[in-house]
Amino acid sequence: MRKNIVIANWKMNTNVDEGIILLDEIMQLLTEAELNDTEVVICPPATHLYPLDALLVDYEKYELELYLGAQDCSTNKGGAFTGDLSAEQLAFAGASFVIIGHSERRNYQAETNVMLINKIDEALASVLNIVFCIGESETQRTAGQQYDVIEQQLNIVLQAYKAKEFESFIIAYEPVWAVGTGNTATPEQAQEMHAYIRQLIEKKYGKTIANQTQIVYGGSCNSQNCAAIFSQSDIDGGLIGSASLLSEEFLQIVSIASKVD
Ligand code: PGA
Repeated sequence: MRKNIVIANWKMNTNVDEGIILLDEIMQLLTEAELNDTEVVICPPATHLYPLDALLVDYEKYELELYLGAQDCSTNKGGAFTGDLSAEQLAFAGASFVIIGHSERRNYQAETNVMLINKIDEALASVLNIVFCIGESETQRTAGQQYDVIEQQLNIVLQAYKAKEFESFIIAYEPVWAVGTGNTATPEQAQEMHAYIRQLIEKKYGKTIANQTQIVYGGSCNSQNCAAIFSQSDIDGGLIGSASLLSEEFLQIVSIASKVD
């Protein structure tokens, strides 16, 4: 059966010294917590990956299921692309996951479907796991278009990749109206959409792969509201923004994820 997974998205927060302290606190708490089969991924700013990866070595003996991820990668392999970071560079700096398609990048950086596919191709070539984010806006939900929007966003991946490649994907359902707003989706709204996403995956790749795929919820998720969300049958954990910047709050979320099925 699939494991629960909690992914921290630090966004553009913390300097590297603060990031080291935060990860150290998180790992300390993880060593004291009793977690069943729950994976943790920390996605710091890319400047932090290399020193944070070095810090992981101090905790190797605990065999924590903790990994680092990047928040984005370039559409290109390498070369004259000032300011970009390739999937390979991120992998060498310590990332084993990469977030692609986050609504903040779709909106602020005008990322298109073609760009997302190029990024995914690069990530797969560097053997990164992909946290692919999809989610409808408030206007789309008000107009009753949420299922169509999710289907269109997911289809770009379902149409482009074979089952073997899809095994590297985690899907993050993040309604745009819930990201950073304090308005969480209700557990029922989230479950409905996760079940729908799983159905679409099943239609394309079959039941086994649909059952294996981790689908996480993101959008104003915190230690107060996550238990009800994570206990839904098609919700396998969360993508956590602001609540991942406080070690104890984040650990509480991870502990809750480890206690629900
Ligand atoms: P939030 O962010 O938890 O601060 O809403 C989630 C995300 O953007 O991944």
